[in-house]
Amino acid sequence: MDRDKILLTPGPLTTTLRTKLAMLRDWGSWDADFNAVTASLRRSLLAIINGQDSHVVVPLQGSGTFSVEAAVATLVPRDGHVLVLDNGAYCKRAARLTTLMGRRCTVVAFDEATQVDPAALEQALKSDASITHVVMIHCETGTGVLNPLQAVAEVCARYDKGLIVDAMSSFAAIEIDARKTRFDALVAASGKCLEGVPGMGFVFIRKAVLDACAGRSQSLAMDLHDQYVYMEKTTQWRFTPPTHVVVALHEALAQFELEGGQRARLARYTRNYQTLVAGMTRLGLRPFLDPAIQAPIIVTFHAPDDPKYDFKTFYAAARARGFILYPGKLTQIETFRVGCIGAIGPHEMEQAVQAMGLALQDMGLQPPART
Ligand SMILES: *Cc1c(COP(=O)(O)O)cnc(C)c1O
Repeated sequence: MDRDKILLTPGPLTTTLRTKLAMLRDWGSWDADFNAVTASLRRSLLAIINGQDSHVVVPLQGSGTFSVEAAVATLVPRDGHVLVLDNGAYCKRAARLTTLMGRRCTVVAFDEATQVDPAALEQALKSDASITHVVMIHCETGTGVLNPLQAVAEVCARYDKGLIVDAMSSFAAIEIDARKTRFDALVAASGKCLEGVPGMGFVFIRKAVLDACAGRSQSLAMDLHDQYVYMEKTTQWRFTPPTHVVVALHEALAQFELEGGQRARLARYTRNYQTLVAGMTRLGLRPFLDPAIQAPIIVTFHAPDDPKYDFKTFYAAARARGFILYPGKLTQIETFRVGCIGAIGPHEMEQAVQAMGLALQDMGLQPPART
Protein backbone atom coordinates (compact mmCIF):
# COMPACT_ATOMS: atom_id res chain seq x y z
CA MET A 1 0.00 0.00 0.00
CA ASP A 2 1.21 3.48 -0.83
CA ARG A 3 0.95 4.78 2.71
CA ASP A 4 3.90 5.88 4.84
CA LYS A 5 4.84 3.30 7.42
CA ILE A 6 4.64 4.37 11.04
CA LEU A 7 8.12 4.82 12.47
CA LEU A 8 8.39 3.34 15.98
CA THR A 9 12.04 4.37 16.21
CA PRO A 10 14.10 7.04 17.97
CA GLY A 11 14.22 9.14 14.78
CA PRO A 12 13.53 9.88 12.06
CA LEU A 13 9.94 9.92 13.30
CA THR A 14 6.49 9.99 11.80
CA THR A 15 5.69 13.64 11.06
CA THR A 16 2.42 15.40 10.31
CA LEU A 17 1.29 16.28 6.80
CA ARG A 18 1.47 19.95 7.78
CA THR A 19 5.17 19.58 8.63
CA LYS A 20 5.89 17.72 5.39
CA LEU A 21 4.00 20.30 3.31
CA ALA A 22 6.20 23.08 4.72
CA MET A 23 9.06 21.60 2.70
CA LEU A 24 7.44 22.24 -0.69
CA ARG A 25 8.99 25.66 -1.18
CA ASP A 26 12.51 26.84 -2.01
CA TRP A 27 14.22 29.40 0.19
CA GLY A 28 17.29 31.56 -0.38
CA SER A 29 19.77 31.38 2.47
CA TRP A 30 20.48 35.12 2.23
CA ASP A 31 16.84 36.05 1.99
CA ALA A 32 15.29 38.06 4.80
CA ASP A 33 12.21 35.80 4.84
CA PHE A 34 14.31 32.74 5.58
CA ASN A 35 16.43 34.52 8.17
CA ALA A 36 13.25 35.60 9.95
CA VAL A 37 12.27 31.92 10.16
CA THR A 38 15.64 31.08 11.74
CA ALA A 39 15.27 33.90 14.27
CA SER A 40 11.73 32.85 15.17
CA LEU A 41 12.82 29.25 15.54
CA ARG A 42 15.64 30.21 17.89
CA ARG A 43 13.25 32.25 20.05
CA SER A 44 10.81 29.33 20.27
CA LEU A 45 13.57 26.88 21.21
CA LEU A 46 14.87 29.11 24.02
CA ALA A 47 11.34 29.52 25.38
CA ILE A 48 10.94 25.74 25.75
CA ILE A 49 13.65 25.68 28.46
CA ASN A 50 12.93 29.20 29.82
CA GLY A 51 16.47 29.98 28.78
CA GLN A 52 16.02 33.54 27.45
CA ASP A 53 18.02 35.14 30.28
CA SER A 54 20.69 32.51 30.84
CA HIS A 55 21.40 30.83 27.51
CA VAL A 56 21.76 31.33 23.77
CA VAL A 57 20.81 28.71 21.21
CA VAL A 58 23.06 27.85 18.29
CA PRO A 59 21.67 25.73 15.44
CA LEU A 60 24.03 23.48 13.49
CA GLN A 61 23.69 21.56 10.22
CA GLY A 62 23.81 17.78 10.45
CA SER A 63 22.41 14.94 12.52
CA GLY A 64 22.28 15.10 16.32
CA THR A 65 25.73 13.60 16.83
CA PHE A 66 27.28 16.50 14.87
CA SER A 67 25.93 18.86 17.53
CA VAL A 68 27.19 16.71 20.43
CA GLU A 69 30.62 16.64 18.86
CA ALA A 70 30.46 20.38 18.21
CA ALA A 71 29.43 21.06 21.81
CA VAL A 72 32.39 19.12 23.21
CA ALA A 73 34.84 20.74 20.79
CA THR A 74 33.46 24.25 21.41
CA LEU A 75 33.00 24.09 25.19
CA VAL A 76 35.95 22.03 26.41
CA PRO A 77 39.43 23.59 26.28
CA ARG A 78 41.96 21.48 24.39
CA ASP A 79 43.69 20.66 27.66
CA GLY A 80 40.36 20.03 29.40
CA HIS A 81 39.35 16.74 31.00
CA VAL A 82 35.89 15.29 30.39
CA LEU A 83 34.13 12.78 32.60
CA VAL A 84 31.43 10.79 30.82
CA LEU A 85 28.68 9.12 32.85
CA ASP A 86 28.12 5.90 30.93
CA ASN A 87 25.03 3.70 31.15
CA GLY A 88 24.55 2.90 27.49
CA ALA A 89 25.34 3.14 23.81
CA TYR A 90 24.90 6.91 23.37
CA CYS A 91 27.15 7.54 26.39
CA LYS A 92 29.82 5.40 24.75
CA ARG A 93 29.41 7.39 21.55
CA ALA A 94 29.89 10.65 23.51
CA ALA A 95 33.04 9.26 25.13
CA ARG A 96 34.41 8.15 21.77
CA LEU A 97 33.85 11.49 20.07
CA THR A 98 35.39 13.29 23.06
CA THR A 99 38.53 11.17 22.71
CA LEU A 100 38.59 11.69 18.93
CA MET A 101 38.33 15.47 19.51
CA GLY A 102 41.61 15.09 21.38
CA ARG A 103 40.17 15.83 24.81
CA ARG A 104 41.22 13.73 27.77
CA CYS A 105 38.29 11.49 28.67
CA THR A 106 37.45 9.44 31.74
CA VAL A 107 34.46 7.13 31.74
CA VAL A 108 32.51 6.23 34.86
CA ALA A 109 30.52 3.11 33.95
CA PHE A 110 27.16 1.96 35.29
CA ASP A 111 25.00 -1.04 34.51
CA GLU A 112 22.77 -0.46 31.47
CA ALA A 113 19.69 -1.39 33.49
CA THR A 114 20.31 1.41 36.02
CA GLN A 115 20.45 5.20 36.06
CA VAL A 116 23.79 6.96 36.34
CA ASP A 117 24.53 7.75 39.99
CA PRO A 118 25.17 11.33 41.15
CA ALA A 119 26.94 10.00 44.29
CA ALA A 120 29.44 8.11 42.11
CA LEU A 121 29.96 11.31 40.11
CA GLU A 122 30.66 13.23 43.31
CA GLN A 123 33.18 10.56 44.36
CA ALA A 124 34.96 10.80 40.98
CA LEU A 125 35.08 14.61 41.11
CA LYS A 126 36.50 14.47 44.64
CA SER A 127 39.24 12.07 43.66
CA ASP A 128 40.32 13.85 40.45
CA ALA A 129 40.47 17.63 40.49
CA SER A 130 41.68 17.78 36.88
CA ILE A 131 38.18 17.08 35.54
CA THR A 132 36.78 20.23 33.92
CA HIS A 133 33.55 18.97 32.30
CA VAL A 134 30.93 16.29 32.78
CA VAL A 135 28.97 14.78 29.89
CA MET A 136 25.68 13.04 30.54
CA ILE A 137 22.89 11.65 28.37
CA HIS A 138 19.47 12.71 29.67
CA CYS A 139 17.45 9.87 28.13
CA GLU A 140 19.79 7.01 27.15
CA THR A 141 18.02 5.99 23.96
CA GLY A 142 20.00 2.74 23.78
CA THR A 143 17.79 1.31 26.53
CA GLY A 144 15.25 4.05 27.30
CA VAL A 145 16.55 4.97 30.78
CA LEU A 146 15.85 8.46 32.07
CA ASN A 147 18.96 9.74 33.87
CA PRO A 148 18.75 12.10 36.89
CA LEU A 149 19.59 15.43 35.25
CA GLN A 150 18.75 17.67 38.20
CA ALA A 151 20.85 15.70 40.71
CA VAL A 152 23.83 15.50 38.32
CA ALA A 153 23.55 19.24 37.59
CA GLU A 154 23.58 19.99 41.33
CA VAL A 155 26.77 18.00 41.85
CA CYS A 156 28.41 19.74 38.87
CA ALA A 157 27.37 23.16 40.20
CA ARG A 158 28.70 22.34 43.67
CA TYR A 159 32.09 21.33 42.27
CA ASP A 160 32.05 24.10 39.66
CA LYS A 161 32.34 21.75 36.66
CA GLY A 162 30.89 22.45 33.24
CA LEU A 163 27.96 20.16 32.40
CA ILE A 164 27.23 19.13 28.80
CA VAL A 165 23.88 17.36 28.41
CA ASP A 166 22.85 15.26 25.43
CA ALA A 167 19.09 15.74 25.69
CA MET A 168 18.49 14.57 22.14
CA SER A 169 15.63 12.17 22.83
CA SER A 170 14.13 13.97 25.84
CA PHE A 171 14.07 17.64 24.80
CA ALA A 172 10.54 19.02 24.35
CA ALA A 173 8.98 15.95 25.99
CA ILE A 174 10.63 15.78 29.42
CA GLU A 175 10.73 19.02 31.39
CA ILE A 176 14.04 20.89 31.28
CA ASP A 177 14.08 24.33 32.90
CA ALA A 178 17.24 26.42 32.62
CA ARG A 179 16.08 28.53 35.59
CA LYS A 180 16.17 25.48 37.88
CA THR A 181 18.88 23.33 36.31
CA ARG A 182 22.40 24.61 35.67
CA PHE A 183 24.15 23.35 32.54
CA ASP A 184 26.81 24.85 30.27
CA ALA A 185 25.48 23.17 27.14
CA LEU A 186 22.41 21.13 26.23
CA VAL A 187 22.08 19.44 22.86
CA ALA A 188 18.98 18.37 20.92
CA ALA A 189 17.89 18.04 17.29
CA SER A 190 15.10 18.71 14.82
CA GLY A 191 13.98 15.15 14.20
CA LYS A 192 13.17 13.86 17.69
CA CYS A 193 10.44 14.96 20.13
CA LEU A 194 9.82 18.24 18.31
CA GLU A 195 8.63 16.03 15.44
CA GLY A 196 10.48 17.92 12.72
CA VAL A 197 12.50 16.15 10.05
CA PRO A 198 16.15 15.23 10.68
CA GLY A 199 18.99 17.41 9.44
CA MET A 200 19.87 19.96 12.11
CA GLY A 201 20.84 20.00 15.74
CA PHE A 202 20.95 22.89 18.18
CA VAL A 203 22.94 23.59 21.30
CA PHE A 204 21.92 25.79 24.22
CA ILE A 205 25.05 27.43 25.61
CA ARG A 206 25.16 29.25 28.93
CA LYS A 207 25.91 32.94 28.31
CA ALA A 208 28.38 32.98 31.20
CA VAL A 209 30.71 30.52 29.42
CA LEU A 210 30.13 31.63 25.83
CA ASP A 211 32.96 34.14 25.38
CA ALA A 212 35.55 31.73 26.76
CA CYS A 213 34.60 29.27 24.00
CA ALA A 214 36.19 31.42 21.25
CA GLY A 215 38.93 29.50 19.46
CA ARG A 216 38.58 26.24 21.39
CA SER A 217 37.19 24.20 18.51
CA GLN A 218 39.79 22.57 16.29
CA SER A 219 37.10 22.28 13.58
CA LEU A 220 35.90 25.14 11.40
CA ALA A 221 32.54 23.62 10.42
CA MET A 222 31.72 22.46 13.95
CA ASP A 223 32.66 25.66 15.79
CA LEU A 224 29.50 26.72 17.60
CA HIS A 225 31.03 29.94 18.88
CA ASP A 226 31.86 31.00 15.35
CA GLN A 227 28.40 29.97 14.15
CA TYR A 228 26.87 32.02 16.98
CA VAL A 229 28.91 35.15 16.35
CA TYR A 230 28.22 35.02 12.61
CA MET A 231 24.50 34.45 13.12
CA GLU A 232 24.21 37.34 15.57
CA LYS A 233 26.05 39.66 13.19
CA THR A 234 24.35 38.68 9.93
CA THR A 235 21.15 36.82 10.96
CA GLN A 236 22.37 34.11 8.54
CA TRP A 237 23.80 30.65 8.94
CA ARG A 238 27.57 30.53 8.39
CA PHE A 239 27.45 27.87 5.68
CA THR A 240 24.56 26.54 3.55
CA PRO A 241 21.61 26.00 5.90
CA PRO A 242 19.34 22.95 5.62
CA THR A 243 16.55 25.29 4.48
CA HIS A 244 13.79 22.70 4.15
CA VAL A 245 14.62 21.19 7.52
CA VAL A 246 14.52 24.65 9.12
CA VAL A 247 11.10 25.56 7.73
CA ALA A 248 9.74 22.11 8.61
CA LEU A 249 10.98 22.51 12.18
CA HIS A 250 9.44 25.96 12.35
CA GLU A 251 6.11 24.44 11.31
CA ALA A 252 6.56 21.56 13.77
CA LEU A 253 7.20 24.07 16.57
CA ALA A 254 3.95 25.88 15.75
CA GLN A 255 2.11 22.57 16.15
CA PHE A 256 4.04 21.81 19.34
CA GLU A 257 2.82 25.09 20.81
CA LEU A 258 -0.72 24.48 19.55
CA GLU A 259 -0.77 21.06 21.20
CA GLY A 260 0.10 22.66 24.54
CA GLY A 261 3.90 22.51 24.63
CA GLN A 262 6.12 20.14 26.60
CA ARG A 263 3.46 19.05 29.11
CA ALA A 264 0.99 18.07 26.42
CA ARG A 265 3.66 16.26 24.46
CA LEU A 266 4.75 14.33 27.53
CA ALA A 267 1.11 13.45 28.26
CA ARG A 268 0.62 12.08 24.73
CA TYR A 269 3.88 10.11 24.80
CA THR A 270 2.95 8.74 28.23
CA ARG A 271 -0.38 7.53 26.85
CA ASN A 272 1.49 5.95 23.94
CA TYR A 273 3.88 4.27 26.35
CA GLN A 274 1.11 2.95 28.59
CA THR A 275 -0.87 1.66 25.63
CA LEU A 276 2.23 -0.06 24.28
CA VAL A 277 3.27 -1.74 27.52
CA ALA A 278 -0.27 -2.88 28.34
CA GLY A 279 -0.62 -4.39 24.86
CA MET A 280 2.78 -6.03 24.83
CA THR A 281 2.13 -7.51 28.27
CA ARG A 282 -1.00 -9.15 26.80
CA LEU A 283 1.27 -10.61 24.11
CA GLY A 284 3.61 -11.96 26.80
CA LEU A 285 6.43 -9.53 25.98
CA ARG A 286 8.30 -8.01 28.91
CA PRO A 287 10.02 -4.60 29.10
CA PHE A 288 13.73 -4.74 29.99
CA LEU A 289 13.76 -1.81 32.43
CA ASP A 290 12.25 -1.16 35.82
CA PRO A 291 9.30 1.17 35.03
CA ALA A 292 10.54 3.54 37.76
CA ILE A 293 13.53 4.57 35.58
CA GLN A 294 11.89 4.19 32.17
CA ALA A 295 11.30 7.33 30.07
CA PRO A 296 8.11 7.25 27.93
CA ILE A 297 10.30 7.72 24.84
CA ILE A 298 11.53 4.32 23.71
CA VAL A 299 10.97 0.92 25.31
CA THR A 300 13.37 -2.04 25.20
CA PHE A 301 11.61 -5.41 25.24
CA HIS A 302 13.08 -8.82 25.87
CA ALA A 303 12.86 -10.90 22.70
CA PRO A 304 10.58 -13.95 23.01
CA ASP A 305 12.55 -16.77 24.58
CA ASP A 306 12.03 -19.22 21.72
CA PRO A 307 14.44 -20.55 19.07
CA LYS A 308 11.85 -19.72 16.39
CA TYR A 309 12.26 -16.01 17.14
CA ASP A 310 14.43 -13.98 14.80
CA PHE A 311 14.46 -10.16 14.79
CA LYS A 312 14.78 -9.82 11.01
CA THR A 313 11.70 -11.98 10.43
CA PHE A 314 9.78 -10.20 13.19
CA TYR A 315 10.79 -6.83 11.72
CA ALA A 316 9.70 -7.84 8.20
CA ALA A 317 6.35 -9.16 9.44
CA ALA A 318 5.61 -5.96 11.39
CA ARG A 319 6.81 -3.88 8.43
CA ALA A 320 4.44 -5.67 6.07
CA ARG A 321 1.66 -4.43 8.36
CA GLY A 322 2.90 -0.85 8.26
CA PHE A 323 5.09 -0.51 11.35
CA ILE A 324 8.86 0.02 11.54
CA LEU A 325 10.49 -1.41 14.68
CA TYR A 326 14.02 -0.86 15.97
CA PRO A 327 16.68 -3.43 16.88
CA GLY A 328 17.94 -3.74 20.44
CA LYS A 329 21.27 -2.24 21.43
CA LEU A 330 22.24 -4.50 24.32
CA THR A 331 25.22 -6.77 23.85
CA GLN A 332 24.41 -9.43 26.45
CA ILE A 333 20.75 -10.25 25.87
CA GLU A 334 18.46 -10.33 22.86
CA THR A 335 16.06 -7.37 22.82
CA PHE A 336 14.22 -5.07 20.43
CA ARG A 337 13.01 -1.52 20.86
CA VAL A 338 9.73 0.28 20.18
CA GLY A 339 9.55 4.07 20.13
CA CYS A 340 6.63 6.00 21.66
CA ILE A 341 7.48 9.33 20.02
CA GLY A 342 6.48 11.08 16.79
CA ALA A 343 3.19 12.34 15.41
CA ILE A 344 1.26 9.29 16.62
CA GLY A 345 -1.21 8.62 19.41
CA PRO A 346 -2.54 5.67 21.43
CA HIS A 347 -4.66 4.58 18.47
CA GLU A 348 -1.52 3.95 16.38
CA MET A 349 0.09 2.19 19.35
CA GLU A 350 -2.90 -0.18 19.60
CA GLN A 351 -2.51 -0.96 15.90
CA ALA A 352 1.24 -1.48 16.38
CA VAL A 353 0.59 -4.01 19.16
CA GLN A 354 -1.91 -5.77 16.90
CA ALA A 355 0.70 -5.89 14.11
CA MET A 356 3.37 -7.29 16.45
CA GLY A 357 0.95 -9.93 17.72
CA LEU A 358 0.23 -11.05 14.15
CA ALA A 359 3.97 -10.98 13.39
CA LEU A 360 4.58 -13.37 16.29
CA GLN A 361 1.85 -15.65 14.94
CA ASP A 362 3.49 -15.60 11.48
CA MET A 363 6.69 -16.84 13.09
CA GLY A 364 4.86 -19.78 14.61
CA LEU A 365 5.40 -18.50 18.09
CA GLN A 366 2.80 -19.69 20.53
CA PRO A 367 -0.19 -17.36 20.24
CA PRO A 368 0.03 -15.62 23.55
CA ALA A 369 -2.50 -16.47 26.20
CA ARG A 370 -4.97 -13.70 26.98
CA THR A 371 -5.09 -12.68 30.61
C1 LIG B 1 19.24 10.31 18.41
C2 LIG B 1 20.26 10.56 19.44
C3 LIG B 1 21.48 11.16 19.13
C4 LIG B 1 21.87 11.60 17.76
O1 LIG B 1 21.88 10.60 16.83
P1 LIG B 1 22.01 10.96 15.29
O2 LIG B 1 21.90 9.63 14.63
O3 LIG B 1 23.32 11.60 15.08
O4 LIG B 1 20.89 11.91 14.97
C5 LIG B 1 22.36 11.41 20.16
N1 LIG B 1 22.06 11.09 21.42
C6 LIG B 1 20.90 10.51 21.76
C7 LIG B 1 20.63 10.21 23.19
C8 LIG B 1 19.95 10.22 20.78
O5 LIG B 1 18.78 9.66 21.11
